[in-house]
Amino acid sequence: MSKIDEVHLLCAGYCTHPECIIISTGKCQKIKIPNMFALLRHSERGYILFDTGYTGRFYEETRSFPYNVYAFVTPVYVDNHQTAVVQLRDMGILAHQITHIIVSHFHADHVSGLRDFPMAKIVCLKTEYDAVMKLRSSSSFTAVRHAFLPNLLPSDFEQRVIVVDDNLFNSPNPTGQYVQHLNSKYKPFDIGYDLFEDGSIIIVSLPGHTPGHLGCFATKPTGEKFFFIGDACWHSDSFRGTVKVDDIIPPNSLTALIHYHWDSYISTIKAIRQLYIDQLEGRMPEIGSLQIIPSHCPELFKKYKLKNTLKSKL
Ligand SMILES: [Zn+2]
Repeated sequence: MSKIDEVHLLCAGYCTHPECIIISTGKCQKIKIPNMFALLRHSERGYILFDTGYTGRFYEETRSFPYNVYAFVTPVYVDNHQTAVVQLRDMGILAHQITHIIVSHFHADHVSGLRDFPMAKIVCLKTEYDAVMKLRSSSSFTAVRHAFLPNLLPSDFEQRVIVVDDNLFNSPNPTGQYVQHLNSKYKPFDIGYDLFEDGSIIIVSLPGHTPGHLGCFATKPTGEKFFFIGDACWHSDSFRGTVKVDDIIPPNSLTALIHYHWDSYISTIKAIRQLYIDQLEGRMPEIGSLQIIPSHCPELFKKYKLKNTLKSKL
């Protein structure tokens, strides 16, 4: 029986962009794009976050050139009372009670709050970790081009990071400490990493947006399953697609400039769509209910009646 007894979706700040940027069928008018993250409670391991949303550190770290270009291109709005650490405190959860933060990828909107949780292990894929280590020692121009603000990483990042070796996922006969062969409930995701070795949290690779972007399945004892997919796509319509089975709806093709690898990004959305369609059409009755959660989907934000300071228990 899974040990995830609570799942909350929360939101810490937003940015603004034309809707047609995040989904190619969207309108050209500017919309608020929420920055959502998730709080999970494991009955033995305590509280776990999936990403952290924005904090005021984004403003501090984008004051000077060239980092201010990031803030200019992506206008960000977050108040002090909207940050993850404050919202959790309002729920009665203290910063040191967060035991793990699963990081989808290291873009600033996902890791702005890392420094607020001093006891948390930081979980990421090795491909992403390697890319970030490279960016850390590269020029500020290269870092900001990859939406990476180095000072958002805690000073003891190296001591707290759990690096999941996703290179093993792709080997011909995947074996090793970080490899689990997933059952059909996760198809087409065959290989993943079972964080607590109890089936409650499964980490999978969703490459393309960044080199080692990850997603995370969380299952409640009822069988209800959540798939947090970060920026694997920005809008739920991307994987819901059109009436044709293999049609996804990508974001505006201009965004290919900011994705690490466009073809992998598209393949990842197609894999998420396959899971979505199989579940929708009842080909996987054993999967139970599944909610796929992109971090920035405005529709989900509305569906769960999230406000920046309101949380929704799922
Ligand atoms: Zn991103």
